Amino acid sequence: MPVSDTYRPDPRFALLGPEFGDAVAPAPFGELKLRFRNDRAAATVGLDALGDAEWIDHFGRFSPLPGQPGPIAMRYHGHQFRNYNPDLGDGRGFLAAQIRETPTRAQAPSDRVASDSAQERLLDLGTKGSGTTPWSRGGDGRLTLKGGVREVLAAAMLEARGVPTSRALSLIETDEHLERHDEPSPTRAAVLVRLSHSHIRLGTFQRAAFHRRTDQIEVLMEHVRTLYHPEVTAGEAADLLRAVVAANARLAAAWVAAGFVHGVLNTDNLNVTGESFDYGPWRFLPAYDPAFTAAYFDQTGLYAFARQPEAVFWNLTQFAGCLKLVGDAPDRVQALTDALNGFGPAYIAELRAAFLRRLGVRSLGEAADQRLVDTTLSLLRDGGEALGWEPLFHDWFGGFASSARALGGPRGRLYQGEAFDAFRFSLFEHEPDRPERLEAAVFAAPPEDMLIDEVEAIWSAIDTADDWSPFHKKLARIDAVRRALA
Ligand code: AMP
Ligand code: MG
Repeated sequence: MPVSDTYRPDPRFALLGPEFGDAVAPAPFGELKLRFRNDRAAATVGLDALGDAEWIDHFGRFSPLPGQPGPIAMRYHGHQFRNYNPDLGDGRGFLAAQIRETPTRAQAPSDRVASDSAQERLLDLGTKGSGTTPWSRGGDGRLTLKGGVREVLAAAMLEARGVPTSRALSLIETDEHLERHDEPSPTRAAVLVRLSHSHIRLGTFQRAAFHRRTDQIEVLMEHVRTLYHPEVTAGEAADLLRAVVAANARLAAAWVAAGFVHGVLNTDNLNVTGESFDYGPWRFLPAYDPAFTAAYFDQTGLYAFARQPEAVFWNLTQFAGCLKLVGDAPDRVQALTDALNGFGPAYIAELRAAFLRRLGVRSLGEAADQRLVDTTLSLLRDGGEALGWEPLFHDWFGGFASSARALGGPRGRLYQGEAFDAFRFSLFEHEPDRPERLEAAVFAAPPEDMLIDEVEAIWSAIDTADDWSPFHKKLARIDAVRRALA
């Protein structure tokens, strides 16, 4: 049987009509090689029972899944590095399917009954590298294999570190070779499928606003409200903005706590659900460095590590500008401004929550939690490259319950001095959260990091020897961390 009985197609985007997307055809690839299939993610949409040949047929050749309308290239605009570009849109990808999430088999039957009655999240299968579209401009519509490998790794690590993220579902190598100025060329090619909680970008609204199509903005508002923010009142732009602001504040805080630099925070790369997606030149921080940039083309550091909240906020102001065009209530601009200004407080609160999660301790109230954020950042700054970013979270996960492990471990000698004393005092005020998690083997192993040298080494094994074992071993270790922290 190709799909499970939990597979529930719900192709809502197509219902918006041809003004929002274009039916497209996938590239006619020759021989395809399945390199990665994410069965855990597939199980959440009833697709884990596909055999490899069926998998390649659906995620490499894009035979439509049951109940799906066929590939649609989504239309959108966006600000790229603060310059408005009306020539964007899905140029090398499309929306392949929309499916309701289902409880996984691992969940208890009682949970399944409960969540079956509730509305499950709507997930998109979106592609990257599946061929040209009307929005390809001069591009070839393709993805390099290295780019695909990097997206798989980034999504897995972000998920493990508790960031709301799209998941890589499938990576299939094609028989093509590509010319790229940022990779030794010709370079191998791939087609990726990601599972994402929406691909409606801030730039999707910008396109409607650019064309002064307030009717389209209203249609998008209602689409986003009913599918992704059902708690929002119909027709209330400021309410919708508040929900999108809150979700993206949460995301920005989660990136920072994860030590992640997305690299390309353009308005077409931010989603109305606040789920992180589209991983290109990303990097994880080796050590505390507010100015750390990921993309070689980000010469001014616009999207540097510590500037990410500001970048997200700037993008949200553009989104607010789109919503300003609808309605005629005299106080609507003030209401939108107020909703937008909720970003700062929401970000700070989410940063506290994210640091607590990363350190595995419980909240003790705003003041104590904020002290923990501040002292953790001071210790990270003080510790510099000798300490690194991730090792601190690894060593001190669980708070005082990890004292002996941290102080007796390889970085023990770094844990002294004023910054450390302040950190320890603050950390020890907080109770460990589910300390039984510390029994996981990952806490006896070195921290699971993903710095550029390791990413390059994983790619090099694939590139030079077609050796995929470092890639799969890395994913297995990341998954062990995810399970330990869950
Ligand atoms: P990104 O920075 O990856 O989010 O992409 C920005 C825009 O460029 C999007 O509209 C992409 O669809 C488009 N794009 C990126 N790479 C290619 C490519 N190789 N061929 C066609 N379009 C592309
Ligand atoms: Mg993009």
